[in-house]
Formats: sequence, C-alpha cells, structure tokens
Amino acid sequence: MLLTADGLTKRFAPGDAPAVQDVDLGIEEGEIFAVLGPSGCGKTTTLRLLAGFERPDAGTVRLDGRTLSGNGCFVPPEERGLGFVFQNYALFPHLSVLENAAFGLEGEPDAETRAREALEKAGLGGLEDRRPHALSGGQQQRVALARALAQRPPVVLLDEPFSGLDALLRQETRDRVRRRFKENGTTALLVTHDQQEALSFADRVAVMKGGRIEQVGTPEEVYDRPRTLFVAQFLGRTNLLFSEAEGREAETPLGRLPLSRAAQGRVLLSLRPEHLTLEAAGQDVEVPSQVVGRAFKGHDITYRVAHADGAEYLVHTPSRVTFAEGDRVRIRPQAPAVVLERSDEPPAPA
Ligand code: ATP
Repeated sequence: MLLTADGLTKRFAPGDAPAVQDVDLGIEEGEIFAVLGPSGCGKTTTLRLLAGFERPDAGTVRLDGRTLSGNGCFVPPEERGLGFVFQNYALFPHLSVLENAAFGLEGEPDAETRAREALEKAGLGGLEDRRPHALSGGQQQRVALARALAQRPPVVLLDEPFSGLDALLRQETRDRVRRRFKENGTTALLVTHDQQEALSFADRVAVMKGGRIEQVGTPEEVYDRPRTLFVAQFLGRTNLLFSEAEGREAETPLGRLPLSRAAQGRVLLSLRPEHLTLEAAGQDVEVPSQVVGRAFKGHDITYRVAHADGAEYLVHTPSRVTFAEGDRVRIRPQAPAVVLERSDEPPAPA
C-alpha cells in the first residue's frame, strides 16, 4: 500500500462525538480510491488528516512506509509532497492560468515547462495568459488539477472536485480525468457524497457514516453485496425483507431464496430492484402479485408490484419486459438475496 491510515481519530472539541473515528484505509499505487458518504460523515476531515491540515488525536498516516502523522511525529502539509485539489478550486484570481499552474513549483528549474506541460495535457493549451475569472467552471477545475499534477505528487487528494460543474460537464470531466489518471498511473483519493461519481470514477470505494467506515470494496462489491443496511440504502434503491435463514437459503415471501452467505435465524435481506424480474402469472396462481405502478425510463422500466405479503416491491427490468398496471405477475429473483448485518436502524421504505 502506498498511502495508509490506521485507527485515525479526530475530535474537534472535548465531549463532542469524534468527526472521524478509527478509520483504516490503504490506497495502492496507481489506484483511484473514493471515500463516499452523506454530508457531515467526516469525509473532508479524513482527507485533511491525510493531507496534514489537521492533526489526529489517535492513529497514524503513512506514505510509502514513512510516518507522516502519529507515533509522536507530524510532517506539515507542505513537506508531505501530496497534491491537493480543493472543492472550490482555490485558484488565485490575480495570477494567470500559467502562474496558477506553476504555484508550488517555485525554485524548481523546470517549473514553467512542467506547468505548461500539465496545462497542455489538461487541454488548456493557449489559455496560459488568462485570469481564472475568464474561464468556465470546467476549465477552472482543470487548472486546479493541472496545478496538482504539475508537482508530480505520489498521491493526489481531491475534495468533491466535480461538484461545481453542471451534470453534463461533470460526467464528461470525470471521464476525462479518470482516463488521464489511468494513463499516468496517478494514485488518487477523492471524497464525494455522489454515489454515481464514486461508483463510476473509483477502483475502490470506502462508504462512511458517522465518522466510521462501514465498508470498503470495488464498486461492484459495495453495490451488489452491501454489508449493512446503511450501505444498501445509501448506494441505491433496494427491497428489504425480514426472513428466517437456514444456512445458505431462506424462506421468504418471494419463495425459498439462495443467500449471499450462510446465516441462521431471523435476518434482514436486501434485493436490488434489478436483481428481480417479472413473469406473467398464469390463471393457476391463486394469489398473484399485481403491477401497481410503472415508470418507463427509455432503456429500462421500474415497476411497483404489490405482493401477497402486503408489501410493495420495486422491480427494475430492461424495457423489453413490458407489463401494464393491473397485470397479474410473478416476481422472480435473479440473484442471491444479500444478508445484511443486524442493525438497530428501522429500514426506511425502498
Ligand atoms: P460535507 O460533505 O458536508 O462536506 P463531510 O462528510 O466532509 O461533509 P466533515 O466536513 O468532515 O464532513 O465534518 C464532519 C463533522 O465534523 C461534522 O459534524 C462537522 O460539523 C464537524 N467539523 C468539521 N470541521 C470542524 C471544525 N473545524 N471544527 C468543529 N467541527 C468540525
């Protein structure tokens, strides 16, 4: 691992709940890693602890085996050599694009060449003499990124770097930045509250809640096999059902289902809408389910289906699976139901 955090804890005032508690992270060289969570969960504080803008109350930060924070040691941010892209880009309004990109390279003999090269790679060639106010939001974001990359840092830390861009530009900029990071082998850690952003941009995602990390995994792992109710609900819509598990199977209102892992007794299961499909119910089915709502979204359709157990299920199918409101259907699970860790939180409606 190139950058690691072990047991990172930060409390801003005595008696307050910690903003970050017992956070362990390991980012590999060349990896794009996202810390994802709702507002106030401690994402920015985690990033600031890694960058050295905050001192941890406990825990360590190491870069390539060297301790940056912890064990009585604290390396100030400017000596950590990490790149940082702030939420608001933090460009200097009185400096040109080139001067902004070269900021932090003072004293380096090839400062200007590196800054020009980084701007060129960011597609900003020709704009070197402009001031930031004369650039679009997307271009300002690229200057901030070019500035971070011109320093050739071992790791770039990004705090909600795309949040100032409108939806279309955000997607396009994200794709471009990801491609560049991968071409250059850049190691990057980004914090975001945007699920789609984390899932599509990162190689691995840490989902955070209340200062703690709930789960770390590839986008597929955290989305398809959430460990907790919070992760299941935060990453997308899901159907929740309580049932009795017997090993790798459980008896549920949708029939006997395979489970993601062995369990015994009462369990809470999560089934994403796209892990279910619908079939027409024959007249022989005594108590069929019934389509009560339908939202066509072009390439897919989301159905609301009332089931005999009194619950409503969301079913997400390709748009070629067509049913109308009132149709009698059967809900067919297509994937094992995910066993969530027991949680005291009451499940919110899907
Ligand atoms: P957002 O997405 O809204 O930026 P976040 O997940 O980045 O949220 P943090 O900014 O890390 O969350 O804040 C975590 C908690 O720590 C919050 O309760 C916040 O109010 C508190 N906090 C953050 N910085 C300070 C500070 N300097 N002094 C006191 N409390 C702080």
